[in-house]
Amino acid sequence: MKIKTAEFIISNAKVDKCPDSKLPEYAFIGRSNVGKSSLINMLTEHKKLAMVSGKPGKTRLINHFLINKEWHLVDLPGYGYARVSKKEKKVFQQFITDYFKKRKQLVSAFVLVDIRHEAQKIDLEFMQWLGENAIPFSVVFTKADKLKPNVIDKNIEAYKANLLNTWESLPPIFVTSSSKKIGQEEVLNYIQEVNNQ
Ligand code: GDP
Repeated sequence: MKIKTAEFIISNAKVDKCPDSKLPEYAFIGRSNVGKSSLINMLTEHKKLAMVSGKPGKTRLINHFLINKEWHLVDLPGYGYARVSKKEKKVFQQFITDYFKKRKQLVSAFVLVDIRHEAQKIDLEFMQWLGENAIPFSVVFTKADKLKPNVIDKNIEAYKANLLNTWESLPPIFVTSSSKKIGQEEVLNYIQEVNNQ
């Protein structure tokens, strides 16, 4: 898929206010600082489409972008930010689960994980929750430029083994780097393929 147009549409604090549209929607989510904004900018070839945040966890909004006038890319807030209260975490969790449960246009989620780290409980639990709620997802490894190819392979194998502890089959997996523009074609072609089904 070639990117012809990418436009910011709207930010919302409530899922009910999200665009009333029939277009298919793909949501990007992951821990704060995982590289989500950078990935969205890399995928859409816009340096500043998503705000690369200086303050992790501050943007608690559902952001809709219209891509090629054909589908919505949704930037969801990063989770797992340590410096928030328990109550805040609960409200936030509700906000995210509301989106996934209510948003009928959602086709698939992309769960971003930093390729340098071992599988984190919070990500695995989130994927588990998506599975229990029958929400399709892919795993997107970010920041692949930070590791040597053999370490990337080793980390991915370890991640897969971890997923296979609870899953019967593996989700689609993508390896990306926003700074080296790795994985753009793979992710966009996957979205195209799913849109064409
Ligand atoms: P977000 O909080 O998940 O939206 O993450 P950001 O996109 O704001 O990125 C967090 C930090 O990671 C920033 O300092 C980015 O420059 C850095 N970063 C993001 N993607 C990459 C990447 O592909 N490679 C490298 N080396 N750094 C990255």
